[in-house]
Amino acid sequence: MTQLSDLAWTAVPDRPLVLVPLGSFEQHGPHLPLDTDTRIADAVAHEVARRLGERVLVAPPVVYAASGEHQSFAGTVSIGNEALRFLLVELVRSLTLWSGPVVFVNGHGGNVRCLSGAVSQLVEEEGRDVAWIPCFPAGGDAHAGHTETSLMLHLAPERVDMTRAATGNTAPLRELMPAMLAGGVGAVSPSGVLGDPTTATAEEGARLFDELVGHVLGLVGGALRDGAPS
Ligand SMILES: [Zn+2]
Repeated sequence: MTQLSDLAWTAVPDRPLVLVPLGSFEQHGPHLPLDTDTRIADAVAHEVARRLGERVLVAPPVVYAASGEHQSFAGTVSIGNEALRFLLVELVRSLTLWSGPVVFVNGHGGNVRCLSGAVSQLVEEEGRDVAWIPCFPAGGDAHAGHTETSLMLHLAPERVDMTRAATGNTAPLRELMPAMLAGGVGAVSPSGVLGDPTTATAEEGARLFDELVGHVLGLVGGALRDGAPS
């Protein structure tokens, strides 16, 4: 058993490594559900924990995060950078009273600035044993495109509506960034898609999922061997 929420307090192992999936609740185009980032991060964390055995637990995911750039789309719920940073700091302060290392598995690019700031504060100012790992494939398209749609076709095909999948804005993120910073994702893509979901397949999703699991497994496995995450 690897899920913290399934355990009685007496069953919690001594100083386990705890993975905390960090997602988002934000639009992912007309064909993917709002909890796409959370589902992907949660699935990767569970598979990593399953492979590493009973010294690793998965905490319930952090669902609400920093998604201000998607706020013009209905359904999106964001608590913003300031609240997220406070949440992450308090969460680790509480967890580490009984846990070993804490590792955030982050599925949403918009959380990175806040997450890395919170982790730096916890490590450098408070000496906590905490790290974070990105959980999106290298070289993938930005948002609700080929990459995320493929992953969701592998993980939860019943939640993907490919009849509504349409190519969004495929320009590189760095080109879109000035307009996005000023007006959010809606300013550059009316559908909310940054990339091309029409080429997505479950087979590609399975391959990408293995890649993500391998990446996180390497870093978390190393942390377990060393006694601390790097
Ligand atoms: Zn996403």
